[in-house]
Amino acid sequence: MTAERLRFDVVVVGAGNAALCAALAAREAGAAVLVLEKAPEHLRGGNTYFTGGGYRFPYRGIDDIRALIPDLTDEEVRGIDVGSYPQAQFYDDLMRVTEGLADQEMTQTLVSQAFPTVLWMKDRGLRWVLLYGRQAYRVGGVLTFWGGLIAEGIGGGAGISDRLFELAVGAGCSVWYDAKATRLHTHRTGRVTGLTVRLPDGDRDVEAAAVVLAAGGFEANPEWRTRYLGRDWELARVRGTRYNTGDGIRMALEAGAQPFGHWSGCHAVQWDIASPPFGDRKIGDLFQKHSYPLGLMVNIHGERFVDEGADFRNYTYAKYGRDVLAQPQRIAFQLFDAKVMHALRDEYRITAITKATSDSIAGLADGLGIDRDGLVRTIREYNAAVQPGEYNPAILDGKRTAGITPPKSNWALPLDTPPYAGFAVTCGITFTFGGLRVDPHTAQVLDTEDRPLPGLFAAGELVGGLFYHNYPGGSGLMAGAVYGKLAGEHAARAALSRIAPL
Ligand SMILES: Cc1cc2nc3c(=O)[nH]c(=O)nc-3n(C[C@H](O)[C@H](O)[C@H](O)COP(=O)(O)OP(=O)(O)OC[C@H]3O[C@@H](n4cnc5c(N)ncnc54)[C@H](O)[C@@H]3O)c2cc1C
Repeated sequence: MTAERLRFDVVVVGAGNAALCAALAAREAGAAVLVLEKAPEHLRGGNTYFTGGGYRFPYRGIDDIRALIPDLTDEEVRGIDVGSYPQAQFYDDLMRVTEGLADQEMTQTLVSQAFPTVLWMKDRGLRWVLLYGRQAYRVGGVLTFWGGLIAEGIGGGAGISDRLFELAVGAGCSVWYDAKATRLHTHRTGRVTGLTVRLPDGDRDVEAAAVVLAAGGFEANPEWRTRYLGRDWELARVRGTRYNTGDGIRMALEAGAQPFGHWSGCHAVQWDIASPPFGDRKIGDLFQKHSYPLGLMVNIHGERFVDEGADFRNYTYAKYGRDVLAQPQRIAFQLFDAKVMHALRDEYRITAITKATSDSIAGLADGLGIDRDGLVRTIREYNAAVQPGEYNPAILDGKRTAGITPPKSNWALPLDTPPYAGFAVTCGITFTFGGLRVDPHTAQVLDTEDRPLPGLFAAGELVGGLFYHNYPGGSGLMAGAVYGKLAGEHAARAALSRIAPL
């Protein structure tokens, strides 16, 4: 870490996907850029490091995909069906899962800028691959992609994070580790002029013509979780970094920024019951268990409590963590039979997993600690409720149950073929939805009267207004990249156009 230079055009707070896209864009626009990372170097990269690396963007068909992934061979292309994902569908998906609450202008920016932004990242040196294992099923010999999420950065979250650091440093950005931003400095006109940074040897003031806040949400702050998300949220596991404690949001609010978005909402998933309190950098996102649409979910009494087949997992997984948190002892179990075991995602094949197998439902209940009579009764009733129809996991197949609550609306196969397997999960929080309000075109932070705060920009998880109640998988990284790039460009423009120092 070098701390000799104390004046920069643009200071970026945070070092995840949003921050590093902002840093790259600002540097490219000619600004001298400093990136502040609260974590020490060996723990750098925020939640981005823990991600699966999937970015959701619209595409018109295989030609767009080949523009992004030029090393796809003709032979590979013959074996896949990528379909298309029009901009209008991305827009509708966001509106549908957020109950129509997503800010329309922000959503429009995300949808229209997503594909140009992934191409921009590719042109800067980030490589992309198709999400073969997670987002495609083999149908009639062809790998068919589903659910509007098709590509990841190579190496997943760790690969993307390391590559973005390489690109930012290679472009000439300075990075300080163990450097926690604690307070914004403002001129009496309201303009942001710099910030205080806590370094291992004490506090230091850094002057900046513009600041980009990209310091994540408050998911790793148990007190804020309880305060804003509600009862029992302090008991959730944190899936990613321990460093996202709401600092960026707090600093901006203190400077007059407007709180915006779904402050009592968050992204939370089913996460292995034996997982540690924060993310494990070696395991990454593999404590998640996302193949539940192929099976059943029950609580410790053996009762079902959600519609496992309500929609593609991309559109339900981020809200079902909250349902698990509400179950007795905050525990749930995912159950599968031999018919579908081969189709489970990669995260079911790790050694750090809480799993039981049995040739009978009663034995499975005993192995997992579920009430035996309750589970046997639930499975009997469920199997009797399964309706005929053609099972196809790559589409919403409408193969459903009748006469039970909750229903299973798609992919309802009877659970009747041993051996059975069950996995124990709890609630893992990913990130929080509430945050700051930004101008949808410039990512400049707005004050409580909707006026831009001069010199202050924001991107990533700490921006509110896009996600309410739920979230379409892959939108977090994409929104961070789109708004990070915008924030960096506009911060640089604001910084470089400043004529006289205040
Ligand atoms: C396990 C897991 C899997 C996920 N998978 C996906 C996926 O496949 N696709 C997807 O779209 N999204 C995924 N997400 C969500 C995703 O993490 C986020 O949408 C995205 O990475 C957030 O990026 P960000 O830059 O906003 O925040 P982060 O990447 O969390 O970066 C925040 C940064 O701010 C730093 N920081 C915090 N406070 C301060 C301070 N005071 N001073 C300086 N620095 C500070 C942190 O150390 C960190 O570097 C996943 C999340 C998790 C946890």
